[in-house]
Amino acid sequence: MKTNKNHQQKLEDLIIIMKKSGFLNDEKVESAIRKIPRNEFVPMSVKEKAYENAPLSIMKNQTISQPSVVSRMTEWLDIREGQKILEVGTGSGWQTAILSYLVGSGKVYSIERHSELVEFAKKNLDKLGINNVKIILGDGNLGIPEESPFDRIIITAACKKVPEPLLEQLSEGGLLIAPIGKYPQSLILLKKISQEIIEVKNQPGYVFVPLLGKIDEEK
Ligand code: SAM
Repeated sequence: MKTNKNHQQKLEDLIIIMKKSGFLNDEKVESAIRKIPRNEFVPMSVKEKAYENAPLSIMKNQTISQPSVVSRMTEWLDIREGQKILEVGTGSGWQTAILSYLVGSGKVYSIERHSELVEFAKKNLDKLGINNVKIILGDGNLGIPEESPFDRIIITAACKKVPEPLLEQLSEGGLLIAPIGKYPQSLILLKKISQEIIEVKNQPGYVFVPLLGKIDEEK
């Protein structure tokens, strides 16, 4: 699916902004952002804003993540061809599609708790002919034990601490990224080495919608 001329110019402007602000440094991530048109992952009401460097409302009070944050998280995850990825919080499926592009022959599993968003994301991925993604309706806090271990795990909603099952489902040498804290959050990158979890990166100043589940039910 091609971006139209109007979107194409806005995408170029967005890429310049992300590069200048230091949020886009990796050529492979840049090509993924170019290849996966964000305008295909937002509702009609916000199409015109698709290439703004901002989170946008999708449905069920959720958001498609800010492009610079998606870029940073994807870069930190250092994704390689053929890997198996777990994403918690599918939302629109835009981040999912970027991961799917980067793993190539690998596979992305993504868990979303709202059935409307599962359907929305599936539709968006189908439009682009993406077929290396499995979207699952459920509680991402639990991960997918039967598909583990995962080379990479990305949590796209704010949590107080990383759910234990997700740490267990990370492969040896694997990386996990998550926004941690109440408000604002710190983006943390963890690595599993010899069954120990070590913190590789920690950067404050991010704001995500909360990771809900059995413990933090929606008010
Ligand atoms: N990266 C996504 C995108 O670009 O569209 C946006 C993700 S949005 C910031 C966070 C998502 O996490 C929401 O869709 C929300 O419904 C989902 N979520 C929150 N708690 C969850 C849980 N326990 N299990 C699965 N999904 C959850």
